[in-house]
Amino acid sequence: MAHVVIVGCGIVGAAIAYELSSVPGLSVTVCDRKSPAAESTGAALGVLMGVISHKTKGRAWKLRRDSLERYETLIPELETRLDRPLPYNRRGILMLGFEGENWSRWEELAEIRRSQGLPLELQDAETVRSRYPQIQCDRVTGAIYSPRDRQLDPTALTRALVDAARQNGVTFNFGVGVDGWEIAENGDSQKICQTLKTDTGTLAADWVVVAAGLGTTPLLETPPQPPPVTIRPVLGQALQVRCPQPLATSPQPVITGDDVHIVPLGGAEYWVGATVEFPDADGNVEADTELLDRVVEGAIAMCPALKEAEILRQWSGLRPRPDQPAPVISPLTGFKNILLATGHYRNGVLLAPATALKIRDLLIERMEDGESGN
Ligand SMILES: Cc1cc2nc3c(=O)[nH]c(=O)nc-3n(C[C@H](O)[C@H](O)[C@H](O)COP(=O)(O)OP(=O)(O)OC[C@H]3O[C@@H](n4cnc5c(N)ncnc54)[C@H](O)[C@@H]3O)c2cc1C
Repeated sequence: MAHVVIVGCGIVGAAIAYELSSVPGLSVTVCDRKSPAAESTGAALGVLMGVISHKTKGRAWKLRRDSLERYETLIPELETRLDRPLPYNRRGILMLGFEGENWSRWEELAEIRRSQGLPLELQDAETVRSRYPQIQCDRVTGAIYSPRDRQLDPTALTRALVDAARQNGVTFNFGVGVDGWEIAENGDSQKICQTLKTDTGTLAADWVVVAAGLGTTPLLETPPQPPPVTIRPVLGQALQVRCPQPLATSPQPVITGDDVHIVPLGGAEYWVGATVEFPDADGNVEADTELLDRVVEGAIAMCPALKEAEILRQWSGLRPRPDQPAPVISPLTGFKNILLATGHYRNGVLLAPATALKIRDLLIERMEDGESGN
């Protein structure tokens, strides 16, 4: 058996653990210094903007398409395995357009999606108001409705992936931080990581997958070398609210406009978010309450009934933003047996399933080439 160690158990690490758990000949261990979904994943709204994104070709589109496809099988697969329901909003995403909206850009996207077999419906303002009476906003000039996009609860999904992977024999070490690795020179230009140094001892590994989000850069700095990727935090704040009554009588899509999401949770509860706050030159960022107020104002401008809502919970989290196109899914340069699955920035929930499939394929390909570590 080849032993794979995954560093990090956010949604990306958990999805990789689950996909690898059914690969014959692998034993898998996941280490996380905290608990599942304790970092970025625990703050996310779980909005899967794939079809409605303007990514139409190349890697960016392929990852989105593969993820949306895998989610359609993954959610029922996990529900059956675990015998419990998982929140998964199949009502799509409604993106509102405002004065000055470039509608021809959306028409072009709808045309491309049609050729890809994916529906995208442009609606005029009158249609929006008649179908979604909760939207009372004079600035709305129309909308794009994407029935194939989805939304889910990122923490519930991460826990489900952990439970299902555990059933398949994966070992999870929570509360175990990885501080670095011991390397062996291979006689050629590529190094091999033989052992991971953790805060509870050492761990032998044939393969290492770094899915550590913002923890990636410090890890890659050991042994001292310029890290091939620098990941910086971009803060996001969000709220959970409860209205006196549901905003609509029928099940609703996620409503989004001006980068503000209103996510129906069932009953009269909603997630509203999120801010996008960049760090200073030293990489530090603190939540700015004024920016959260602006998000709330934006949500109320779209759905005025939200004005009566009671705030149940408020939180913030840090998105892992790489200094290169997100996400980073590749072998670590200079190493034979370390793979990176990190830097998913604003779309880690959307891209976790495709990332896991890509890491699985990379690993199998490298194992078949005989490029094992130890
Ligand atoms: C407010 C907000 C809203 C968002 N909304 C969406 C959304 O709607 N849709 C979407 O797709 N994305 C969204 N995102 C982005 C998404 O949350 C991230 O892209 C995604 O969670 C990244 O997942 P990850 O597993 O790579 O990282 P994380 O969830 O950060 O997981 C990394 C894990 O690695 C562990 N770790 C780090 N270093 C070490 C170490 N040295 N040793 C051991 N463990 C370590 C950490 O404890 C952590 O558990 C949002 C983010 C925020 C903040």
